[in-house]
Amino acid sequence: MFLRNKFSGGIHPPTYKELTQNCPIEEIPPPQKVVIPLIQHIGGPCLPLVKSGEEVKLGQKIGSSDKYISSPVHASLAGKVSHIEDFNHPVLGKSPAIFIERGQDSYTNAISQKDPTGLSPEELKKIIQEAGIVGLGGAGFPTHVKLSPPKPIEVLILNAAECEPYLTCDERLLCEKPSEILKGLEIIIKIISPQEIFLGIEDNKEEAIGILKNTLQAMGLTNKIKMVILKTKYPQGGEKQLIKAITGKEVPSGGLPFDVGVLVQNVQTAFAIYEAVYKGKPLYERVITVSGKAIKKRGNFKVRIGTLVSEIVEFCGGFIENPKKIIFGGPMMGIAQWSLEVPVIKGTSGILFLSEEELNFEEPGPCIRCGRCIEVCPAKIMPASIALAGEYKRWNIVPQYHPLDCIECGACSYICPTRRDLVQFIKLAKQYGK
Ligand code: SF4
Ligand code: SF4
Repeated sequence: MFLRNKFSGGIHPPTYKELTQNCPIEEIPPPQKVVIPLIQHIGGPCLPLVKSGEEVKLGQKIGSSDKYISSPVHASLAGKVSHIEDFNHPVLGKSPAIFIERGQDSYTNAISQKDPTGLSPEELKKIIQEAGIVGLGGAGFPTHVKLSPPKPIEVLILNAAECEPYLTCDERLLCEKPSEILKGLEIIIKIISPQEIFLGIEDNKEEAIGILKNTLQAMGLTNKIKMVILKTKYPQGGEKQLIKAITGKEVPSGGLPFDVGVLVQNVQTAFAIYEAVYKGKPLYERVITVSGKAIKKRGNFKVRIGTLVSEIVEFCGGFIENPKKIIFGGPMMGIAQWSLEVPVIKGTSGILFLSEEELNFEEPGPCIRCGRCIEVCPAKIMPASIALAGEYKRWNIVPQYHPLDCIECGACSYICPTRRDLVQFIKLAKQYGK
């Protein structure tokens, strides 16, 4: 176990983790209805496998695609499909979705439950694919594809950094289900056969660090899985930053972690793999953090995929004051929402209800060329220049600044003394710059 801190740039925003850090995971009762979007992942959209009026069981596969880069969706409620139509989506704005009204509880083992010791890597990947598992850190990339890299993997990293302010759902899961997460990690190890395995965690998660240390010891994994305690710094949980901090390797511009022989997996993804393989359970629920000073009850909740935010607000006793902003994910990289009628999807790590006190509504001013955004940028690019090119639609000069290396972490916007909305202009530059 050792401390490392080698990625350049980064910031130290207030974490607000104390709002929910010690809240044990609580289950939100199944709602009366769920809305399951047919696109919750990167890749081919799912097509419905059910029709309006059809009865479905909990865990039943209700949408899939014949594309390899895709991931099926499952019923998170037993009941009746009331209709299928476009509905609000927290990332895409709108997406086709399956509406299920709650009926009599019934469960299907959509995937067969097997002893993983006798299964081959291909059989394990098939289970992960059938269970609809995608990267639960927010990226939503299908896990069976990520576990089939085109190059050999030497280093596997379990990403337990959870560096976004407010979010504590991974931390609580680590405290409450450490052996299940490590069993999920062992399945990943079996699939990709890395030479070295690390578990990267920030030093502000003392309880989880102690529990993991004991669990690694109890499971006889201390020599196999090395725990790396990282200095708390945002965005420590970014894949490239984590790889740099733990291995010293630098993912090349435009490259992916497998280009340097590394694969990173998220805590909740490892847990979902454990549940799929050991329990035959598809991904139809997950743990999220509900926080922010505008909501009455904050905490870490196990919630069915497809539950509407309005249901969660009701469970939490409503608002203390009208939230000034509702965000899916963390405040740095999350996506602002305009309605409470939007469903939790697989990649939802948290829902924040922020009060006026927690937000900074200062009007943006012009760039004063202070260079602070460059100092903090973990991608070592020039945020001010890219944003200016984006703002003035100078698409032809954008590529020279390598905007595609931007991980949209928001550190530049956070540090800018004139409150420039750098990330928004950089996103435009990434989209149109040629
Ligand atoms: S330019 Fe991109 S990577 Fe760099 S600080 Fe801004 S958002 Fe983060
Ligand atoms: S931090 Fe803001 S003001 Fe300073 S150089 Fe960057 S964009 Fe300009």
